[in-house]
Amino acid sequence: MSYCRFQYQNVARYGLIEKVRGVETITRTLATAPRSWSELEGAERCDLPLGEARLLSPVEPSKVVCIGRNYREHAIELKHPIPTEPLIFLKPPSSVIGIGDNIRRPHTLSQRVDHEGELGVVIGKRCYRLRPGDDVRPYVLGYTCVNDVTARDLQEKDGQWTRAKGFDTFCPVGPVVAADLDPWKGVSVQTRVNGQLRQNGTTVDFLFPLDVLVHFISQVMTLEPGDLIATGTPAGVGPLQPGDSVEITVEGVGTLKNPVLNLE
Ligand code: ZN
Repeated sequence: MSYCRFQYQNVARYGLIEKVRGVETITRTLATAPRSWSELEGAERCDLPLGEARLLSPVEPSKVVCIGRNYREHAIELKHPIPTEPLIFLKPPSSVIGIGDNIRRPHTLSQRVDHEGELGVVIGKRCYRLRPGDDVRPYVLGYTCVNDVTARDLQEKDGQWTRAKGFDTFCPVGPVVAADLDPWKGVSVQTRVNGQLRQNGTTVDFLFPLDVLVHFISQVMTLEPGDLIATGTPAGVGPLQPGDSVEITVEGVGTLKNPVLNLE
């Protein structure tokens, strides 16, 4: 099961995606962000082939919570110590874009803008201060692809990451949110630049599994429906140049493709 957000008669709507006669089709639409799959299944009928829809970012999060160094090999490649507890930081909602939207390199401020392909987790139910042993799955609506675009030189220079991670267009998300994934069993997360494979990880290699991450974040802040967690990137991060095309593929979700341009 999956859903998207799309442009429909000049307004943005959410849509349930189902196979109709072998074609992926938006069969139900909703004006507001879904909090559950049953809400989507009971929504207004629609009949639009997914291929004809102009897709938008499938989430409008109040915040994007990211995990730094959640794969051992990536921590090593950046010469950082292996963390003993999750490292979290935020990306602003203004950084979020959808499939096909341009990533704009702020080339007068940064000479090194990297891709970071990640599994994204979409929250479905408000979540604050989970107790040890609480099941996190009821709080997760589904999964998507995220590109945690990073100005690597500014990340090193600033000592904290707000600027490096926070530029507009630095958080491509999509193409859809899918339910039927099990990150605990292992989901492949791949990044390609101009068709060439650059990152190839699996979520079984997480240093901190998803239940630990959600539990950890919820001790700090209330996670709201529609909020997005970017679960960290595997090894192989590298620079993006103007004219590049970057694709993040999460098994069971699909491929998020964005062109790269310089900020005018
Ligand atoms: Zn990241």
